Amino acid sequence: MSKISIDFKTGLLKNDKPIYAGIDLGTTNSLIARMNEDSAEIIEDVNHEILFIPSIIHIHPNYQIEVGKKAKQYLVSDPTNTIYSIKRLLGKSYADLTDKKNNFGYHLHDDQSENLIKVKIRDKYFTPIELSSYILTHLKIQAEQSLKSNIENVVITVPAYFNDNQRQATRDAGKLAGLNVLRIINEPTAACLAYGIGLNRNETKHIAVYDLGGGTFDISILRVEDGIFEVLSTRGDTYLGGDDFDNSIVKFWQENFLKAESNFTNELRILAEKAKISVNDGQEFIAHYNHHTLSLNQSEFKKISIPLIQKTITCCERALADSALTLSDIDEVLLVGGSTRLNIIRQAVKEFFTKEPNTSLNPDHAVALGAAIQADILAGNRKDLLLLDVNPLSLGIETLGGLMDVIIPRNSKIPVQLAREYTTSKDGQINLRISVYQGERDLVENNRKLGEFTLSGIPPMPAGIPKIQVRFYVDADGILKVKARELRTNTEQEVTIKSQFSLSADVIAKMLMESVHFAKQDIEKKSLVDTINEANSLVLASQKFIKDNQNILSENETSKLKNLSVNLQKSIESSIKDEIQKSIEELNEYSTPIAHKVMDLNIQKALSNQTIVTTIAKELKKDGQET
Ligand code: ADP
Ligand code: MG
Repeated sequence: MSKISIDFKTGLLKNDKPIYAGIDLGTTNSLIARMNEDSAEIIEDVNHEILFIPSIIHIHPNYQIEVGKKAKQYLVSDPTNTIYSIKRLLGKSYADLTDKKNNFGYHLHDDQSENLIKVKIRDKYFTPIELSSYILTHLKIQAEQSLKSNIENVVITVPAYFNDNQRQATRDAGKLAGLNVLRIINEPTAACLAYGIGLNRNETKHIAVYDLGGGTFDISILRVEDGIFEVLSTRGDTYLGGDDFDNSIVKFWQENFLKAESNFTNELRILAEKAKISVNDGQEFIAHYNHHTLSLNQSEFKKISIPLIQKTITCCERALADSALTLSDIDEVLLVGGSTRLNIIRQAVKEFFTKEPNTSLNPDHAVALGAAIQADILAGNRKDLLLLDVNPLSLGIETLGGLMDVIIPRNSKIPVQLAREYTTSKDGQINLRISVYQGERDLVENNRKLGEFTLSGIPPMPAGIPKIQVRFYVDADGILKVKARELRTNTEQEVTIKSQFSLSADVIAKMLMESVHFAKQDIEKKSLVDTINEANSLVLASQKFIKDNQNILSENETSKLKNLSVNLQKSIESSIKDEIQKSIEELNEYSTPIAHKVMDLNIQKALSNQTIVTTIAKELKKDGQET
């Protein structure tokens, strides 16, 4: 395939050799790497500092965006406008976070819904996709300035446990940053590639990748065979990392030195991280803090760390059990993530796996380096490596508002089979039109239509109740079969579409180029359509609510609800996202307490009915017995 590169300022094609990069978008730190001659290296900025940046974003009062080291300085002075750990929120809804809602120093917007979460910063709402895109943009721009060349084709890594939504969100963040995301790969797979594992197609190996970063721990067990990586098992703790070691040190100081004055401060946490690193380097730590002397020695640190380390080892035991392998099957153990520099971790991992872990690469860099190698393979620079057949463009269907919903992402290995579930948007809807599209744009009107069919005979049900599964199957010849089935009643329809691979390389290149070129507009449009869809369903829900609860609602409540719902309808007509969002919030804010009240009343009523019913039932029975 010919190489394509685009000049973002002019939108023109360029013919020089483009740079293919790998990005480790981390919870704590993010990095960008590339192939230089025959080896992968982390890219440096114009000051020759490697592009290893804190994954932190600070939003100034004028909404100017600062990323990385400079943003980190605001963690202490301006915590509500300084965003860290955004990776934890990618692809998640407020409801997904359950008990972890208070773990963030910034404001998560609670819309009481299953919709993707938003972060409120000053007076604006930001999605985790946007915030992550700022980190990616920063890396891209810094790297471009120092290499004096455009970077558009990248591979981005994600944890092996990331689900579809989280992967799609990562892809969207890349797109929004003006990047062409060639592929999303698993972090442990990238670590293997960095160590050269999987590059020899004739070997079969089992690898354990132990990844302890700043805030998360993952252990993955992989099998690599014929250059294909398979994740056999993955376990971990999304709230266990280097930060917890720091926090335990702070706690130790509070109990032993600070006593009454034991407020947890960011200053203490920063001192604790220094203490951790210094003790690990064999140096006892001493520092002064508010007239107190704080210290930490090796045996104290060991005692503090044991429970945390034990948690990771328990995960290793489970992952090994899940993989159905035994210790002797594991050929290699790789250490990844900044916290695996701790000697006590290395020791514990060695004891558990009864094998010396491979630590020849910098554990902070391995994932990004591996991503760069994968990008290089996808660029076609490694003729020795055969690439598996992949589908060249994403395949999906049209959903509400003309959005493209991808079912099989581009670059998926084929044959492949994937399904997603949908539902109806109108009460009593008995038909569902399924339009199949190919392409990378967010709105179907910009993609290529492959075909269309109607699933009919859905029994009438209220909107949202039918479960319609749409399954895409691409066989080894690239032929696409689409099947739609209503799961509650087993109504089924199927079509076969043959034109999957009929596109020429030039057409594919053009479609990809456009998707990068229009990414920002597309994502803005998509998020407007998403907001409108949300607003429309809220309008319907509140109309139903008013109708169903006529007897319970006061006149005042009814008219206020009606007004807010009319406002919302008007705002939808405005097509201004922030206006609509504001009206959604106003309606939600007013209706939520009323909904709770109504629910309580209904429950009470239901309960009292139930007691009546049971008493009657009992009396009947008694009567029956007597006669
Ligand atoms: P993530 O994958 O979450 O982005 P990293 O792999 O960058 O995180 O790891 C960051 C963590 O590594 C922090 O908790 C930091 O304290 C820890 N760390 C960095 N250097 C060292 C070191 N020399 N010794 C011990 N821990 C370290
Ligand atoms: Mg990491």
